[in-house]
Amino acid sequence: MNNVIREQFPILQQEINGHPLVYLDSAATSQKPRVVIEALQHYYERDNANVHRGVHTLGSRATDAYEGAREKVAKFIHARSTQEIIFTRGTTTALNMIASSYARSVCGEGDEIVLTPMEHHSNLIPWQQVAKATGATLKYIALQPDGSVDLAEVEKVVTARTKIVAIGYVSNVMGVVNPVKKIAEIAHRNGAIIVVDGAQSTPHMAVDVQDLDCDFYAFSGHKMCGPTGIGVLYGKKALLEAMEPVEFGGEMIDDVGLYESNWKELPWKFEGGTPIIAGAVGLAAAIDFLEEVGMDNIERHERKLAAYAMDRLSEIEGITLYGPRHREVGLVTFNLAEVHPHDVATVLDASGIAIRAGHHCCQPLMRWLEVNSTARASFYLYNTENDVDRLVSALIQTKEYFGDAT
Ligand code: PMP
Repeated sequence: MNNVIREQFPILQQEINGHPLVYLDSAATSQKPRVVIEALQHYYERDNANVHRGVHTLGSRATDAYEGAREKVAKFIHARSTQEIIFTRGTTTALNMIASSYARSVCGEGDEIVLTPMEHHSNLIPWQQVAKATGATLKYIALQPDGSVDLAEVEKVVTARTKIVAIGYVSNVMGVVNPVKKIAEIAHRNGAIIVVDGAQSTPHMAVDVQDLDCDFYAFSGHKMCGPTGIGVLYGKKALLEAMEPVEFGGEMIDDVGLYESNWKELPWKFEGGTPIIAGAVGLAAAIDFLEEVGMDNIERHERKLAAYAMDRLSEIEGITLYGPRHREVGLVTFNLAEVHPHDVATVLDASGIAIRAGHHCCQPLMRWLEVNSTARASFYLYNTENDVDRLVSALIQTKEYFGDAT
């Protein structure tokens, strides 16, 4: 990975507060390469129409582009068929769909839903709501002292009472890759299904839903070089077929009467209303771009960068680094001595460096770490060792500045 990739991202070619921009907030949302921006422009300038209805040329171009994007997604995550790919607004919407349709129909009093304390709020609150509505109980897999998941703990919590195990493939705070394939085996052995939050894994590593044998898998386009407003719910066909739609209205119906209606087949029964056509087109362009670079190359690059960042950051006196020392993804979470992470992020912004500060939508994990908030730098294919060096120098200056002030 080098400057050739960086040059393909127009937004990165600017100065912020008089310094070349160093963007270290890709776990929140990634930047977009020129090819994705151009694909959106091309779609709106040439092909825009509503899908699945028009007999006119633009209608069929838009439909081909939209359904072509579905095929691309299916291949990208190795789904068996396009019927298993439902376009949604993002990970949050996809997880809520599983919770409000599948989970509410299978859970009842005495059933259990198993989570970890490191889940993003989007993979936590929907399950709390299911528990409240159905009488099911939430159970948590205890984390190891370094924040990782140990399979022995999974074995203890997942039992014949478990209906659903819901877990993030990659934590957006700890930088760990959870052993989802093995957890899926444990869930299935106990008669449960597994829901995987793929928001932080899909952008950064090759994903094979069949190999993982997950039952549902959710991710967002905007974290993987695509536009905002598009995401994916993958589900095994048999489960999706048995599931009731979540939204009702145009596009998702087969036949409508005054008192009764029935639905289209998969995947369209879950896509009520005009779908996110341009978003899907942009996501397809993003997948082409990522595949051209190579998911394995991206993963390798990020691991190297994260290892370098861990080494360089640990040289800073008074820094606390969270999560396992060995990084599997390009993400580091830390606190700097007594300095509030919001102050750290504000001072870094003055040097043109964008990092994230806060609870990262993981308040239970913050409590587990015994902090209110942390700073987080997250990397993607366009980041370089020079970005890490700029981060480290700015952090040293920040510490000196606040050290002198107190
Ligand atoms: N899960 C994880 C692990 C995430 O990092 C995020 C995004 N921060 C989400 C879910 C939610 O994604 P979205 O906001 O795109 O719906």
